[in-house]
Amino acid sequence: MDILRIDAIHPVISGNKWFKLKYHLEAARAAGLQGVLTFGGAWSNHLVATAAAAREAGFSATGIVRGEPAGPLTTTLLQAQELGMQLEFVSRSQFADETQLYRQYQERYPQLALVPMGGQSPLGVQGASEILQLAPLEKYTHIACAAGTGTMMAGLVSASLPQQQVLGVSSLKLPDPEQNSITRFVYDSTQRNNFTLFTQYHFGGFGKKTGPLLDFMNALFQQSQLPTDLVYTAKLLYGLMDLLNKNYFSANSRLLVIHSGGLQGNRSLPAGTLCF
Ligand SMILES: *Cc1c(COP(=O)(O)O)cnc(C)c1O
Repeated sequence: MDILRIDAIHPVISGNKWFKLKYHLEAARAAGLQGVLTFGGAWSNHLVATAAAAREAGFSATGIVRGEPAGPLTTTLLQAQELGMQLEFVSRSQFADETQLYRQYQERYPQLALVPMGGQSPLGVQGASEILQLAPLEKYTHIACAAGTGTMMAGLVSASLPQQQVLGVSSLKLPDPEQNSITRFVYDSTQRNNFTLFTQYHFGGFGKKTGPLLDFMNALFQQSQLPTDLVYTAKLLYGLMDLLNKNYFSANSRLLVIHSGGLQGNRSLPAGTLCF
């Protein structure tokens, strides 16, 4: 098992977010727009990454945040704000209707390029497919990643070799393990079948955690100095270790695991919870 540490490519635009934003920013520039508009939760890696990437590209950035602010801003939102992002809050119910939400804000801000949540679009997939240019791809039988929207996974599937399997571990609790939003998006984006999504390692749902998951993160760091984030990469590594222990992988399998970043989200934990 090799780990591709794209969490380390940039101090703020961590991991897969840089790849998913790349072509959105290029398209915004080509369209002559002044800035970007995007959406996310109070601990969203995507909001911080977009704030930083927009600033570096010389764009303004507006972030629409799910839920009314309850008390002080999270460290994530403070960081996005310090990077120049204008924040606006909308109720959870309004946020839930994505189509309507996007339409409403695009009408309000026609001068901004709308980047869908999580960078989920063909441009996001195209950017994510470039992640595999950083590794000697032919060496591996499997490529493994965490999945939220499935945009990164779709990019990896589209860049994978036909004989390779791409394994995704869902960070969301999905209603149907077979017919779900991630599987559908990956298939629709790539028209390929060499992938498997594991839905049993969500630990209660998106952003949810348990004592055993936190213990796993600490043990993994102590053993291998590998820091993971509680939303995505910890669940990915936990799932892969579980599959290994259950002999899912045949002898001579070689795994490339994508460390997609997201470590800023661990700031939601009380100090001292993690040993890194
Ligand atoms: C955003 C994020 C993901 C999810 O990527 P998708 O393309 O939405 O599936 C995975 N890992 C980390 C660390 C992230 O920040």
